[in-house]
Amino acid sequence: MGDYFQWIVDVEATEVQAAEVADRLRRWLVERGVIVPEETLCAISSPGHRPGPNFLAALDESEVDPNPDHMDGVEIQVGRRLFYPGQGEVGPAECPACDHTFGELTFETFDQWGDDPQIGELVAAAGRWVEGGSAEVRCRECGSSAHLNDWRWGYGAMAVGHVGITFWNWPPLAEGFAHAVSNELGHRMRDGLPQKL
Ligand SMILES: [Zn+2]
Repeated sequence: MGDYFQWIVDVEATEVQAAEVADRLRRWLVERGVIVPEETLCAISSPGHRPGPNFLAALDESEVDPNPDHMDGVEIQVGRRLFYPGQGEVGPAECPACDHTFGELTFETFDQWGDDPQIGELVAAAGRWVEGGSAEVRCRECGSSAHLNDWRWGYGAMAVGHVGITFWNWPPLAEGFAHAVSNELGHRMRDGLPQKL
């Protein structure tokens, strides 16, 4: 079985602010007991923070007795980076201007899920942004352009940013957790949870 990961990305922090924002985030997660302060080699192959005494605060309430010994660490990432689905492919995606859905999974199309040209353009924009380019993506339906981070996602979400948190092998995060992080930092966040398209 592969490793399962979930992420939350600050989509407003600039490259210059990133290190300071990551420090605030780390302190807040430690204060709330979501993670322990020490960093060990626990985020698969990277340094990370083990679950703290109050790690349940980050999880969906429906989780019954999750065992922290079966969970890996939390990695706080600084630097220009793409966050992609923890499972499966990217898509479907919805244009923020016209609400058209691309790459929708249906019985007829499920072999081609991810082959939708609009999804391809979103993936290309993510690659461009990581190389320092623009993340604007033009909609094939209505012709308007929007930043990759403003597109809405179904099962397989993508986002780009300079500060992110990745939870390795944690049970599903609470739906409101990204919102709590957003309130703390005063920045807009994106997470990989499926949105209702
Ligand atoms: Zn559109």
